[in-house]
Amino acid sequence: MARLFVLLLVTFFLSACGSSPSESRFSGAIMGTSYSVKLITEGGLSDADYQRIAAEIQETLSRVDRLMSTYKPDSEVSVFNRTPVDTEVTLSSPTFEVIAASKRLYEMSEGAFDITVGPLVNLWGFGPDGRLLKVPSEERLTEVLQQVGSNRLKLNVERGSIIKEAELAIDLSAIAKGYAVDQVADVLSGQGLRDYLVEVGGEIRISGLNLSRSAWVLGVELPDALGRQAHTVIGLKEGAMATSGDYRNFYQVEGERYSHTIDPETGYPARHHLASVTVVAETCAEADALATALMVMGEHKGLAFAKKHGVQALFLVRTSEGFEVLDSGKFNELVLN
Ligand code: ADP
Ligand code: MG
Repeated sequence: MARLFVLLLVTFFLSACGSSPSESRFSGAIMGTSYSVKLITEGGLSDADYQRIAAEIQETLSRVDRLMSTYKPDSEVSVFNRTPVDTEVTLSSPTFEVIAASKRLYEMSEGAFDITVGPLVNLWGFGPDGRLLKVPSEERLTEVLQQVGSNRLKLNVERGSIIKEAELAIDLSAIAKGYAVDQVADVLSGQGLRDYLVEVGGEIRISGLNLSRSAWVLGVELPDALGRQAHTVIGLKEGAMATSGDYRNFYQVEGERYSHTIDPETGYPARHHLASVTVVAETCAEADALATALMVMGEHKGLAFAKKHGVQALFLVRTSEGFEVLDSGKFNELVLN
């Protein structure tokens, strides 16, 4: 009897060991940036499962890139951009979904978020056409502004189709990374996996718990081109976090800083003291796009907008001493440091 008891105890101990949580990591390159995934499973993954999941993640991200990249001439978006005015184009459901979400945010943000900014992004040297080192002329700016305005994109929900009513081009750079993160999260959840972190180019979505069986800990970067240091650390139980900033992709001409977020109203790169905006939302597409929208608006308008619409956002504003922290409300509840 005692022997049986010991045997049972040993069996119990071994099976408990076998089911301790283990972290598997996946990473690679996509959309001109990198991605990483952390997946927590009981007892770890077999080699075969690891390889299968790695391939599924890569394929999910590649699919979004193949459909939505403006750097790929044969992507669905690039083909649409070359399509003549007033021609109806039926889109794949992912592309339609992202464009429809973008149009909703365009309306909600009163034009601050506008996926037709592409020509302006190029004009300022932040697009597929490459860098420019001199400020465009007012004439050229006025001309290019004529080619901007999501109000002239007409969507047909029943048919999943789109028509441009003017010479417009779509640029999904400010939402596609977040959407790709959501797609990977859906693939993992669809297999019954519950504990993971998915990140593409700094935009993150998490689910469940981390390896230590606690809420995932995420860092809001110090807006500084040099190092990758956390300014604020948060604990997140469910959802997504995305940051928009002026500190990574920018250049300076005669002391003026030009960054890749363009105000579609003026045609100029957003000009204010906002160094970064971090948004926490249910989906990463939403967080990603909202962060860009708030970045366009700047600290005053952006904070008012976030408060009005219940957006959980953290603004880091440049001051002579460092950064002023503004919270739209409730972001504070997530902060650990
Ligand atoms: P960030 O992390 O700073 O938000 P993203 O890559 O997510 O950077 O978004 C920046 C990109 O979004 C720009 O390179 C440009 O292609 C696009 N973009 C710039 N201004 C706008 C805007 N007002 N609305 C929508 N997209 C924009
Ligand atoms: Mg963004």
